[in-house]
Amino acid sequence: MPTLTRKPAVKHSVEFDRSLLRAIQEASPDAILVVNGQGEIVSFNQRFLDMWQIDTAYVKQHQRADGSVPEDKLMAPALQLLVSPEAFLNRVQQLYERPEEVDLCDVELADGRVLERNSVGLQNDAGDYLGRVWFFRDITSHKLLESSLRHIACVDTLTGEMNRRHFLECANAEFELAREQQYPLAIVMIDLDHFKKINDCYGHAAGDKVLESTCKRWRAILRSNDLLGRVGGEEFAILLPNSDLGATRAVAQRLCQSMTGTPFNLDGNEVYCSISAGTTLATAEDESVKDTLLRADAALYRAKRAGRNCIEVA
Ligand code: GH3
Ligand code: MG
Ligand code: MG
Repeated sequence: MPTLTRKPAVKHSVEFDRSLLRAIQEASPDAILVVNGQGEIVSFNQRFLDMWQIDTAYVKQHQRADGSVPEDKLMAPALQLLVSPEAFLNRVQQLYERPEEVDLCDVELADGRVLERNSVGLQNDAGDYLGRVWFFRDITSHKLLESSLRHIACVDTLTGEMNRRHFLECANAEFELAREQQYPLAIVMIDLDHFKKINDCYGHAAGDKVLESTCKRWRAILRSNDLLGRVGGEEFAILLPNSDLGATRAVAQRLCQSMTGTPFNLDGNEVYCSISAGTTLATAEDESVKDTLLRADAALYRAKRAGRNCIEVA
């Protein structure tokens, strides 16, 4: 094996160990804080001070001769940055009472940052408690990406309403809840009539505008807890919790009227677009919301066959 050449370095010693630990701590991508069993901060890195916006001069002011800092002196400015300082303090207290417990959680700051907090109790080879180390990592960009991915996965970009997958997921949860708490639940399936003609006459962009405006009209009619999903190109599903057949039919009629009562303005042309709808209530025989949806869908197709611009109840 060839001899590896290296730069001259400090030889191994107690001083070397100390410097090495210090250097590792400063090189860490995490903010690090170490508290001993007496509640004194015995070590921290610059990243910790930066993350928690603590001034170096402030630290020096409270630093003892041995370099340690009373914990409350660093805790006070840090607590001011938190969204929930009380919950933070309670958890910290709990962890000091349970040295063996490892903690991993998110901490929200009032300025919008989210930190991942990881904490581990420390002991020597003999098992004596030495204190606790706290690692903090800024995961704000991670969280933003996560929430925008969730948004992309759940929301229909054209209308801003739920996409098919997310609608089915939420409808399923709502179906289970309605069954558990025994309240009625209705489904309305809707398909726009002769929508292809709008695309053919006025172009695809005009068709898109109709879909977008349609959802806005319906949102003004529906309650905030009603679910609206675009389950196909020009097909929509609506779930109405706590709605009996009479109320559901009345809502469906208002949705129809919102289409036939006011034209869409497409490049200066006043264009009407009617809808066909099928409605049904969830029954005790329905195994899942899919059964309810299928029944509403069958009713919708009866409405189409009956000449469109009408509502069929199953
Ligand atoms: P029917 O009354 O029988 O429902 O007739 P229809 O023309 O609405 O039905 P059909 O299923 O034949 O056509 C649906 C049309 O919807 C065809 C498709 O191009 C259009 N479409 C689907 N998704 C979109 C979309 O996102 N934007 C636009 N502009 N058109 C769409
Ligand atoms: Mg259609
Ligand atoms: Mg269709």
